[in-house]
Amino acid sequence: MDGALLAQKVRTEVAADVAALRQRGVVPGLTVVLVGDDPASAVYVGGKEKASREAGMAGETIRLPATTSQAELLALVERLNADDSVHGILVQMPLPKQIDPDTVINHILPQKDVDGFHPVNVGKLLIGHTDGFVPCTPAGIQRLLGEYAVRTTGAECVVIGRSTIVGKPMAALMIQSGPLADATVTLCHSRTRDLAAHTRRADILIVAAGRTRLVTAEMVKPGAVVIDVGMNRIDDPTSRTGTRLVGDVDFDGVRRVASLITPVPRGVGPMTIAMLLRNTVRAAQRSVGA
Ligand code: NAD
Repeated sequence: MDGALLAQKVRTEVAADVAALRQRGVVPGLTVVLVGDDPASAVYVGGKEKASREAGMAGETIRLPATTSQAELLALVERLNADDSVHGILVQMPLPKQIDPDTVINHILPQKDVDGFHPVNVGKLLIGHTDGFVPCTPAGIQRLLGEYAVRTTGAECVVIGRSTIVGKPMAALMIQSGPLADATVTLCHSRTRDLAAHTRRADILIVAAGRTRLVTAEMVKPGAVVIDVGMNRIDDPTSRTGTRLVGDVDFDGVRRVASLITPVPRGVGPMTIAMLLRNTVRAAQRSVGA
């Protein structure tokens, strides 16, 4: 499953929506806040900044020092909440230890929370209300399933990982009634007794554990659809940088068993950024009742 190709398609759709909003005098704006100098976060933020610019959106990245206090960050969030030119606010995680991430997320206006992490948006997803924001990675995976016409209705969907950014919202999406959902969902995690017993039953297997080679071919049912969310950097002396990005799934082994599989990179990752743009445009559309 080519996530990079589909992400490009979503970005083209988003650019058309941005152009339509611009004609009404509205320029969708995404503000990303990066606290500290975590190198991985800097790479993610750079990618989001570039993608939003390419889609014709406004917005900026606000970089704050690692010594920023919680009060200073909350004051910034309040300023962005009150700024009508800012439609989406994203505070990049992880935050330095003096700042409580939940307190920060709770401060972002739910209608500007394009990450979908605010409790109001989490609650809307669970209830099945469609006027909230769905976290970008699960939303991107659902779009991938749709693009490849994967039958989800009645399917056994096994999700590995219970984080609030991937595993839990993924499960919440797939149990909803409606298109690209209606699955029977099993949520596995680090305390699951016999992981392989669950994964072998899966028609759709979504892996978000952050563990290299957690899923191998003998754990996958023939014909299953396998979505690999993991992003793990491993040593690779043959690469220019000395490292390489791999997922949680043994791609070469599992591709022989699965009917569809996402690679790493160029699988779920590009879809995450594309859905962030989608959510930001939606926030801008809603702000003007479009
Ligand atoms: P996390 O560390 O918050 O959660 C990992 C989850 O995996 C936990 O719930 C844990 O219970 C479960 N887990 C760990 N080891 C396990 C095991 N042996 N068996 C079963 N379950 C196990 O991670 P996260 O934020 O959800 O991210 C997961 C992975 O996905 C990471 O590699 C991360 O980098 C990647 N990620 C990728 C994208 C993307 O856009 N491609 C987005 C978010 C996260």
